[in-house]
Amino acid sequence: MPTDLNDVLDGPSVLSAAEGYKAMEDDRDWVDDYDDSEEGEDGDDFVDAFLEEEMNLAAEPADAFANDPYNVRMIKEISERISIEVMHPLRDGKPLLVLDVDQTIVDARALKRGELLPQQCARPGLVEFLKQVYAYYDICVWSQRHWNRLVTKLFELEVLEASADDWAISFALDKHAMFQARATEDGRQTKHLVKALQIIWNHFPQYGPHNTIHIDDLRRNFAMNPRQGLHITPFKNAGTPEAAEDRELERVGQYLVHIAQTCDDFRKLSHKHWRRARREARNQT
Ligand SMILES: [Mg+2]
Repeated sequence: MPTDLNDVLDGPSVLSAAEGYKAMEDDRDWVDDYDDSEEGEDGDDFVDAFLEEEMNLAAEPADAFANDPYNVRMIKEISERISIEVMHPLRDGKPLLVLDVDQTIVDARALKRGELLPQQCARPGLVEFLKQVYAYYDICVWSQRHWNRLVTKLFELEVLEASADDWAISFALDKHAMFQARATEDGRQTKHLVKALQIIWNHFPQYGPHNTIHIDDLRRNFAMNPRQGLHITPFKNAGTPEAAEDRELERVGQYLVHIAQTCDDFRKLSHKHWRRARREARNQT
């Protein structure tokens, strides 16, 4: 694990991928991947069940994204252009957890305002979650943020630290591994940024759709790999009593452990039903 922030900031050559990608050159705001339309509530099992039904109404991203020649070409180009620094050794036989940062594990708006300590902006249960899932998964963080900002934030949250021997981030990707994917849906052109898992799979062939899961608060990030996406509610309003009661990471952690223990091929799963699967697994124990 890196022990010094400056070492890490100087480290990865992923920054070089910026060259030639005009669509990615615009430096984005700290919270620009926050989308209020994805807002949900946290609460008891009743609310949990309601959320699941509501989220299941959302349309599955079409194959139009996965099959678009432009998108396929961009994945190939980015895969060839970037390098990914392995910060902590990948372990044989472990599936891969791809974890979003902003509004998934931290309230980025609160962090930006600077009124709270960085740790107070972390989603409740973050450290416990990382410890819990690291026993079963190698962990990659993928943020729409610039690498320097991403790593700085991870240090502030104490997610990256030399003393943490019970979890580790194996590698990180930033906005330079994202691109504006295109698709034609219902005769209409649409495009938005995506996190295409194939870029990771091209670099690390031990991972694929059978052993990768991607957790994010923005569904559109899953467009190239909808089957691997697990959508959770965005975390916001850090510092308030309501935010302190957020249990989303605890629940997702239980689900991740459950599927790692019981499923040898994640292609058999539909993460759209993760809330129900978690409840059923918990009731059986
Ligand atoms: Mg996010």
